[in-house]
Order: sequence, then structure tokens, then C-alpha cells
Amino acid sequence: MQDKSWLKLIPQQEMIEWRRHFHEYPELSFKEFKTSAYISQILQSFGGIEISHPTPTSVLGTIEGEYPGKKILLRADIDALPVAEETNLPFASKNSNIMQACGHDTHTAILLATTKVLNQLRSQLHGTVQVIFQHAEEQVPGGAQAIVNSGQLQNIDAVLGLHIMNGFKTGIINVVLDGPATTGADAFEVTIQGKGSHGSMPQTGIDPITVGTEIINQLHTVTSRFTPPKELNVVTVGEFQSGNAVNVLPDTAFLGGTVRTVNEETRQSIARRIKEIIHNTCATYGATYDLNYQFAYAAVINDPHLSKLVKASALEVLPEQMVPEGIMMSGSEDFSAYSQLAPTCFFLLGGGDEAEGYPYSNHSPKFMINEKALINGVKTEIASVLNFLKN
Ligand SMILES: [Zn+2]
Ligand SMILES: [Zn+2]
Repeated sequence: MQDKSWLKLIPQQEMIEWRRHFHEYPELSFKEFKTSAYISQILQSFGGIEISHPTPTSVLGTIEGEYPGKKILLRADIDALPVAEETNLPFASKNSNIMQACGHDTHTAILLATTKVLNQLRSQLHGTVQVIFQHAEEQVPGGAQAIVNSGQLQNIDAVLGLHIMNGFKTGIINVVLDGPATTGADAFEVTIQGKGSHGSMPQTGIDPITVGTEIINQLHTVTSRFTPPKELNVVTVGEFQSGNAVNVLPDTAFLGGTVRTVNEETRQSIARRIKEIIHNTCATYGATYDLNYQFAYAAVINDPHLSKLVKASALEVLPEQMVPEGIMMSGSEDFSAYSQLAPTCFFLLGGGDEAEGYPYSNHSPKFMINEKALINGVKTEIASVLNFLKN
């Protein structure tokens, strides 16, 4: 058990003001210029925090504790989505067709509050706390990998991140204790090149629609016949376009899909299988193809030791019913890139559920969260950092 006098240092009112500012002036991935400038300005106002920019629109803050020790990194993503806001909130987006529809405004405000408190505790800290305000989570290839590649994050011992999520009661802390905390998401697009012909003379052409449908049927066997049944794996074809006249066999067909996985080995084997199916099916019919298979975000894998520490820390500062058994988030996150640096833990913060009046999911134009949730994110982050650096 730790001394919890720091709880009264949490700048609750200020945090809400920051959050509303970020909500009102959202910026798209890779274009977070004003957002990152404002974050830098706030960090500067805390005094004594070393500030740098691993990429043009990200901000890294460093708090050197009084005593030597371990180094922990906390991450918030800062970007918004190309969504036209429909919330009617008094601080709704002033930037047309851009909205903080995934709650990254709350992540940013929470991490600023956490930073402010930890900076005030500097004289008692053993080790170093770094905070990364990351650009471009929402757009592949994502900002996380670029930040890792920047080389500015060195000798990190642990990385923590959180995501606010509607559908969970306000302020719930959901920690997966071991294994996948999110799915990984990859994508593929293929253009099948056949040979157009008259609809009444199919023997003179190569029908890309037939090739495409064969490919789609076989893709449905990838997860059912080539992956372990107890693993979560999804292959979905969401786009299929070809032809525009009933009596013309077209030249080409286009199909595109998404792949969700939780295991790196399976992720690679699914990619190989998809490529084989496309290659072999096209060969059978004499078609050619152009395939773009994009490895986007790997699954986030929670480290068991670190995740146990985060959950125990949450339980020190929150009532037991606010820290239920953790379940995996079905979405994907570029936070997985930080696992190249150190063990990671990614947890969810309940933004409110339907019964509480928050029925709209993340990415909806009507997405709204209960601001009362934010303080639990701050409490969990600070308690986790203090416990981690103490050990
Ligand atoms: Zn999102
Ligand atoms: Zn998000």
C-alpha cells in the first residue's frame, strides 16, 4: 500500500478544460500541429519537464526523478477522425468534418493530469517517467512505429497505455492480465486482371468475376480450416467490385478485405494462405493479379507481470467493483509497436454504457463519454507508475 496524499493533487477541473479544448479543435492524423503545440505549452507550464518531438506532431515529456531507478513510458494518442460531429455538445468540434470520435481528447487530458501530478512528486521519485503524446493512431501505418524508430525512447522498462471505451460502465478499469488485449488488423486489396468478352461468348475471355467469387469462397476456409479454433481469427471481404453491364464480361475485378488476429504466427500463416489462394485461383483460370497485402497493426499483448501490477494499483485507488475481470477489445491499436521497446500493458477505461445514457460507440458521429470517467484513468496511471518505480 502506498501513501495516497497525491490524490488531492489531481487537477480535475483543469483536466476537463483541456479535454474540452482538444475536443473543440480536433486535428486529423499526421496533422496534429496545433494539438501538439498546445500540449507542449501545457507541459512547459508544469516546469522542469524536458520536452522533445520524436516526429513533427508528437510530444515527448521526461520527468527525471530525484533518485536513480527504472524508466516507465506512458502513452496517449492525440489524433481525431474524419467524422462530422453530431453531438450538439457546447464544446463540439469547430473543425468541419473532423471529430475526436475515438476519445483521444480524453487520453490526452488524462495523461497531462497524470504528468502534472508526477512532476510534483519528482523529489520522491526513483527513476524516470516519460510521457509520449502520439500522433496518428487512426491512420495506417500509425504514429507509434515512427516514434519507436525515432530512437528517442531508450532503455525503457515498461510501457502503459489506456483507451476510453463506451459500452463499459463509467470509470471501469478493464485490464487483460495476460495475452491479447486487442486484435491485430491487417488489410489486403487485389485487382484481378481477366480478359473482357461478350457475355454470349465467355469462352473467348477470362472472367474475373468467376475468379473473384472462387477466391472469396476459398478465403472463407482460411480461418475455419487453417487456424486453431480457440483463437480469435477473422477474414472478411468487405469490397467486391466488377462489371457494369449484363451482357459484358468485364476485364477486371477488385476485392478488398480485413484480417483480425491475436497471434503473430497465425497472422503470418493467414497472410501466406491468402496469397496462395489468390495466386493459385488466378493461375487456374489464366488470370493475373495485383495484390497489396498490408500488415497494419499487430495485436497488443499484455505482459502478465506488468498487467498484474496495473490491476493491483487500480484496486488500491478504486472500489473493487470498478476493476472487474478484463476482456479483450475487439478493435486494433498501433500501441502494439511499443512492445518492441519493453513489456507493455494496455487497459480500457469505461466511458459509460447505454443504461447510463452513453449508447454510441467509439467512431460514431454521436460518440459521447461521461467525463466523470477520466479521473479513474489518472488514478490508475499514477498508482501504477509509483508502484512500478518502487519495485
Ligand atoms: Zn479509433
Ligand atoms: Zn482510439
